[in-house]
Amino acid sequence: MFTEIRGLNEECGVFGIWGHTESAQLSYYGLHALQHRGQEGAGIVVTDGNSLRPVKGEGLVNDVFNEEKLRAATGHAAIAHVRYPTAGGGGIENVQPLLFRSSTGSLAIAHNGNLVNANHLKQNLERSGSIFNSTSDTEVVIHLIKKSSHSPFRAKVKNALSLLKGAFALMILTKDMMIVARDRNGLRPLSLGKLGDAWVVASETCAFDLIGAEYVRDVEPGELLYITNNGLEVDRISDDIAPRAMCAMEYVYFARPDSNIDTVNVHMARKRMGRELAREVAGIEADVVTGVPDSSLSSAIGFAEESGIPYELGLIKNRYVGRTFIQPTQELRERGVKMKLSPVVQVVKGKRVIMVDDSIVRGTTSKRIVRMLKEAGAAEVHVMITSPPMTNPCFYGIDTSTSEQLIASSHSVEEIREAIEADTLTFLTPEGMVRATARPFDDENGGLCMACFTGNYPTEIFSDTVLPHEKEC
Ligand code: AMP
Ligand code: SF4
Repeated sequence: MFTEIRGLNEECGVFGIWGHTESAQLSYYGLHALQHRGQEGAGIVVTDGNSLRPVKGEGLVNDVFNEEKLRAATGHAAIAHVRYPTAGGGGIENVQPLLFRSSTGSLAIAHNGNLVNANHLKQNLERSGSIFNSTSDTEVVIHLIKKSSHSPFRAKVKNALSLLKGAFALMILTKDMMIVARDRNGLRPLSLGKLGDAWVVASETCAFDLIGAEYVRDVEPGELLYITNNGLEVDRISDDIAPRAMCAMEYVYFARPDSNIDTVNVHMARKRMGRELAREVAGIEADVVTGVPDSSLSSAIGFAEESGIPYELGLIKNRYVGRTFIQPTQELRERGVKMKLSPVVQVVKGKRVIMVDDSIVRGTTSKRIVRMLKEAGAAEVHVMITSPPMTNPCFYGIDTSTSEQLIASSHSVEEIREAIEADTLTFLTPEGMVRATARPFDDENGGLCMACFTGNYPTEIFSDTVLPHEKEC
């Protein structure tokens, strides 16, 4: 019976290193820097030139690895992955890198993104005899490589990758080669760096900073890199050129402020989003500007600078609680917000507060925070969102739910304002967002994917494309 593929690689983080005797240890540090991209599981697969060795487990990077395990994973190259939490867990078998042992050569793969044609490809593969171990779309890639009639191995990989549609920033490790590839639209970020003579690849440049590596460049959309002991060779997955479409939500929310995506610093982009928003609501009267920690602190600073209204620390985050989105039920999610944030009464009491946040998905978080600020005595709460209303689901690996769960897909701005009990509510315009990111490309929207705000998807979407939230529990 045909088992549907579940999107399992949403909002994850990948890291790889080639040519360093401490590859496992450096991967561990790299994953630390990428921890915000996934907290459910972490893994490293190392090669010593003879065989591939995995170390992985469920939980945070610190829980999964220890000195002993890392010391045992000797090798000069590694690929690594942090996995985004899925509702109800996903099991160790879905923690990446996935390792496939075979007499024709073992392979490990680490993938961030969601393939929109995974079910279609899987059906074809099963018809021709492939048997699947997991429900992850990553396994499709491995079967396509193994099944490819092309030769040699590089041609097989190229052929397999050319059949994938959707979002992927991925790395494949064999005992003597690391392959790095990015989808033709460049939907998910991936950067290339150097640490001495070693090549380093990471979802975000903050991983380079942590290990002292130097940023070289972003991996180009559609690019295919082969890294071996002979150095780095650059190829393309195919000759097709597609519109550049880097996920706008990376700048808005996901990426760390100290990362640069396509050379644009995320903190600075967020600050400009705050500034743009302040210009769009010029003349608004308020006493303090506060940001929802951590992702909106940069934009709140930008808003305060532009509006001249003082920035204040009106909300404090409890660092030891994970992101609220990870809670599987609505009830737990709501409780999560309370555990996570506290108002600073002295800052907000009797004040007209501008509360800057990055996005409204279901509307739960904003409503809780508005209430919290009012209970702490705020006279007025004006909510400023540094992205446009999210009206469409994401098919590329970001868990933004189905249309029904996106409050902006069925409610007007005024209705959302009422639902979150704010005095006013303003969203950044799509034009303001594009201007704020200030990306160094002439492409439409500066080469940003804005599909969840505009409905203009940069790839075709299949009727059986699996939404990230539909993954297995
Ligand atoms: P809510 O409107 O209650 O669903 O939550 C919105 C908040 O969740 C935003 O302010 C972000 O901080 C965060 N957020 C937005 N998109 C996502 C996502 N795809 N995964 C996890 N958190 C998100
Ligand atoms: Fe990012 Fe939205 Fe595009 Fe998904 S649809 S990749 S969340 S911009």
